[in-house]
Amino acid sequence: MSEVFYDINDDVKRDVLSATDLVALIGAVTSLKKTGRSWKGLCPFHTEKTPSFHVHPERGFYYCFGCGAKGDAITFVRETERLEFPEAVAYLARRAGITLPVRKGGTRADRAKETRVAEALAAAAAFFSAALPRHAAAVALLARRGLGIEDGSGYGIGAAPEGWESLKSSLSPRFTEEALVEAGLLQRNPETGRIYDRFRNRLTIEIRDARGEVLGFAARAIGDDVPKYLNSPETSRFTKGKLLYGLDRAKEAIRRSETAILVEGYFDQIALARAGCENAVASMGTALTTSQSDLLSRHAATVIVAYDGDAAGVAASYKAFPLLLSRGVAVRHLALPDGHDPDSFLREKGPEALRAAVNAASALVPALLSRIPGSGEDPTVRAARLKEAVEIVSQAREALLRHELLSALSRGTGVPLAILSASAAASFRPEAESPATKGGAADAASRLPEGEEKVLSLLVAEWGDAATLVTRIPADIFSHPVAREVFMAMKTRAEAGQPLDFSELESHVGADAGRWIARLLLQELPSTEEKEQGGKGLARLHIPLLQLKIRFLEESAAGLQPDIQRAENAGDMDAHARLTEEKHGRAVEAARLKAELKSELRRPNVRDARE
Ligand code: ZN
Repeated sequence: MSEVFYDINDDVKRDVLSATDLVALIGAVTSLKKTGRSWKGLCPFHTEKTPSFHVHPERGFYYCFGCGAKGDAITFVRETERLEFPEAVAYLARRAGITLPVRKGGTRADRAKETRVAEALAAAAAFFSAALPRHAAAVALLARRGLGIEDGSGYGIGAAPEGWESLKSSLSPRFTEEALVEAGLLQRNPETGRIYDRFRNRLTIEIRDARGEVLGFAARAIGDDVPKYLNSPETSRFTKGKLLYGLDRAKEAIRRSETAILVEGYFDQIALARAGCENAVASMGTALTTSQSDLLSRHAATVIVAYDGDAAGVAASYKAFPLLLSRGVAVRHLALPDGHDPDSFLREKGPEALRAAVNAASALVPALLSRIPGSGEDPTVRAARLKEAVEIVSQAREALLRHELLSALSRGTGVPLAILSASAAASFRPEAESPATKGGAADAASRLPEGEEKVLSLLVAEWGDAATLVTRIPADIFSHPVAREVFMAMKTRAEAGQPLDFSELESHVGADAGRWIARLLLQELPSTEEKEQGGKGLARLHIPLLQLKIRFLEESAAGLQPDIQRAENAGDMDAHARLTEEKHGRAVEAARLKAELKSELRRPNVRDARE
C-alpha cells in the first residue's frame, strides 16, 4: 500500500525513536549483554558464534562488525519485521503508546495494511479474552488443566464463542471485512462468498512475537471438532516455523539463566512457567525448524530439549539436537518418565517434581548412550543407534567439543575413538561461511592510518568541547578518503551545532565511512582517570593533530615540486615564483609546528599521550 495515512515528519520520527527502548526492542530478538555503555550479542542478520553485534542505546543505533548491518530502531524493525518505513514507525509508536498524527483528509481505510492487520489482531485478542469467562465449556477445559480464568488470561488464552459472526459483528464497526480477512480472523466461503468467523467454539491461544505483539492465534477445539488445533493462516509476518511460543514471556528468564527449555506444545510451555521454570518456549507441535534454532541460539547458550516422552517426541528431539549443536548451543535432554509431557507431568506429580526433573536433565552424551543397546545386544540395532549418535555429535561446531563428545561416546560404548572419529569425519558438514561473514573479515583488515583514526576517535570522545574545534580543522589533513569523509560528516554536524547522531551522520556517507562511524561511536569513552593520564579533554588532541598537520604540510610542500619544475620548463616565471613561495611557506609552517610538537612532547604530563 503506497498511500500513507500517518503524517510522519522528523519531529514524529524523533519522538518515536526517543520513546523506544532500543535494548529491549533488539533484546527480544537476540540476547544482549552489557559491556560498558553498549550492549553486545549474536547478530540477528548473519550466523555467527562469537558476538560482534553491538547496540548503543545512548546513541540510538546498532552495528555488526561481522556483516556491517547497522541502523536505528526504525531500520531494525523494517529489516526484522519486513515493514515499510511508515509501518515500522507505526509499529514502534504502538509499542511506545504514542498516537501518530493523522494526515489531513486521511480516513481509517487509508491506513497502511500491516498496521490495520496488527490492530485487528490486538482487538481480536481483547475480544477472545473478554469472551472467556462467558464460555463455560472453555472454562471447564482450562480447569481440567488446572488453570483458572485469570491464569488463562495471563497466558493469552481466550475463547471464540459459538456462532458464525460473533467476532465479525463485534469488530466490524472498527475494521473493514477486508482487514479482518487479511488478519486471518474472518474467512470467505468460496462458493457462497459469505464471510464468517474463522475461529468458532474454540479455546484461543495468542501467538506473539518475542516483543509481545500478537501475530496470530492457535485455536484448540473444545469438543470433538477437527482439526484439534486450527491456526491463523500463514502470512509474511505470521509464520509458525519462525516463532517460538512463549518467548515474549520467557526471554528475560532465558537471558538470566542463559538456558532455555524447549517443549512441543502450548500447554507444556505454560505448565513449566507455572512450575516456576519461566525459561521455557514451545516449537508449537512441529519439529524444531532451522529458523527457530537460529532464534533460540541467539537467546540461549544451553537448550534443554524437553519434548514428549513418546516415540514421536524422541524422534523430534533427535532432530533438534544436531540443529542446536551446529549453532554452537550446548544441548541437554529431559526425558520425562512414562511418556509424560511437561503438562501431564505437572498435573500428576506437581510443580516441585517438574522442577526437579528439569534440574536433573541429562547431558547430551548420556542421553544418547541411554538409547544405544549394550555390546551383547543386536549388533545391527546397536550400530544404527551408534551411527545416529555419531552423526548428531559431529554437528557440534567447535572441533574441540566434537572431539570431547566423541570421546565420551567412545568411553560409554567401548567402541574405539578412531572408528567413531572416522565415521564422524564422513558426516561432518560445516555450514558454509556466509558472504556476509567474509565481508566482515575484510572490513576488520581495512584500517585507517593510525594518526587519523586517533584524531577522529578523540574528536568523538571529546565532542562536547571538540565541536567548535572541528569547524576550524581543515579536512585536507586527513589523507585517507574514508577518514576525510567521516571527518566531513562530523564537521557538518558541528557547523549546524548538532549532537553526534548515528542516523544523521551515517545517512550522509558511503558504506565504508558508515562502518567507521559506527566503530567510532561505539568506542568506550575514556574514564576520568585515563583522561587525567593523557592530559585533560581537548589537550589530548593537541599532539595527534599537530602530527597530522605537519605531515600534511610536508607532503603538500613536496607535492608542489613537480608544478614548480613544469613552470620553470615552460618559462612561466610568475607561476614559478608563486609556487616556490607557497612551498617555502608550507615548509616554514611545518618547521614551526615541529618545534611546537617537540616542546609539547617534552612536557611530562603528556608522556602517556605519545604514540
Ligand atoms: Zn551481522
